[in-house]
Amino acid sequence: MRQSELFGGTMREAPKDEVAVNAKLLERGGFVHKTMAGVYDWLPLGLRVLNNVNAIIREEMNAIGGVEVFLSALQPKERWEKTARWEVLADIMYQFKDHSGRDVGLAVTHEEAVSEIATRFIHSYKDLPRFIYQIQTKFRDEPRAKSGVIRGREFLMKDLYSFHRDEADLEKFYAKADKAYRRIFTRCGVDVLVTEASGGTFTKNFSHEYQAVSEAGEDFTLSCEKCRYAQNKEISTITEGETCPKCGGVIRGAKTIEVGNIFKLGTKFSEAFGVSYADETGERRPVFMGCYGIGPGRLVGTVAEVNHDERGLIWPEAVAPFRVHLVALFGKEKSVRQKVVREADRLYEKLLAKGVAVLYDERGETSAGEKFADADLLGIPWRVVVSEKTCAAHAFEVKRRSVAKVTMMSWDVLMKKIVPTTRRRG
Ligand code: ATP
Ligand code: MG
Repeated sequence: MRQSELFGGTMREAPKDEVAVNAKLLERGGFVHKTMAGVYDWLPLGLRVLNNVNAIIREEMNAIGGVEVFLSALQPKERWEKTARWEVLADIMYQFKDHSGRDVGLAVTHEEAVSEIATRFIHSYKDLPRFIYQIQTKFRDEPRAKSGVIRGREFLMKDLYSFHRDEADLEKFYAKADKAYRRIFTRCGVDVLVTEASGGTFTKNFSHEYQAVSEAGEDFTLSCEKCRYAQNKEISTITEGETCPKCGGVIRGAKTIEVGNIFKLGTKFSEAFGVSYADETGERRPVFMGCYGIGPGRLVGTVAEVNHDERGLIWPEAVAPFRVHLVALFGKEKSVRQKVVREADRLYEKLLAKGVAVLYDERGETSAGEKFADADLLGIPWRVVVSEKTCAAHAFEVKRRSVAKVTMMSWDVLMKKIVPTTRRRG
């Protein structure tokens, strides 16, 4: 994409009202626009990152048998009364009356919805197990919406719900989902601690949270330096400095961001909605359920929190909005300018033809200094400069965002380094 055609632009200074690093950088870079506290618009660059994250999540959810749906956010009060959560969640749920005076609310989660729908399709042991998921907008009137895209009041959630004939089958899938979750975070370049946490009102067992160590975190996680056994401080039986009960290593504490979690719901929702099945003998039994959440927007914010320096973002390749930032420095003279345009255009077309996602900075009025500052702020993994100097040297000036060194590369070497062997998304 040509940078002059972007719907966006950079800001030198972070907006005054933002405290979170992710929000400052994402807004300065033109990845997002803030509508109000906890409500963000995703602009072209930000949406590309979000879509890359979503594509990774989709791949991993499909790989464990997930089938995608897209459920409504606007829901009637009656649905939520079946579990008494219209009252329980009243503080955080947007609830209002429509024009006919009917009570409706914007869903904060979808256990009620999937349970109601499941009664239409699950009748027999032959209908189990089932795994459905969505990547959909949730609304929560979060009291502390100061963490940028990490805590939105309107935000995306990937939520998967599983339906099983018994607890053993739920356990089996839960372990599979755990593996898929680890792969998702690894692929997004986020190191997570798989943390034991309270099962909440759902179960007396633990749930598991995927916690990324970051000063921006609102959670506190205790974990073993050696084997990485971890517990959320809210339920912890271990303390800092102690020896790990699993391996004898040392327990440390750190602020963390919860990027995902998985829960065994048991039969709480299936009993409330009457989701049951007939087993082989015809006896009716309640369905066991599990739920599995990830915040794709929060994940983008977490990537930003853990991958940046004082100049800007440093996107891991798998989620970067573009792989290459092609920066053309035209100079003043017309003949030089023509040469640079020709060479940069040729490289741009070639990379596109090879399936490489390129942001081409061909802006005419922007100084070299501004272009470099923007490249650092946007954090695209490979910066390739075409200038009078590089044209004269029959080479390109290449710099990786994560490395200080600048290297001159010939066309052939550049192609080898930059064109990935496996075709990448986006
Ligand atoms: P938290 O404890 O941070 O409030 P939660 O435990 O309520 O989150 P869940 O309801 O389990 O979260 O939601 C599943 C996932 O959705 C979370 O792991 C997180 O990644 C994401 N998420 C939850 N709340 C938000 C939010 N306000 N903004 C962005 N993402 C969120
Ligand atoms: Mg939580």
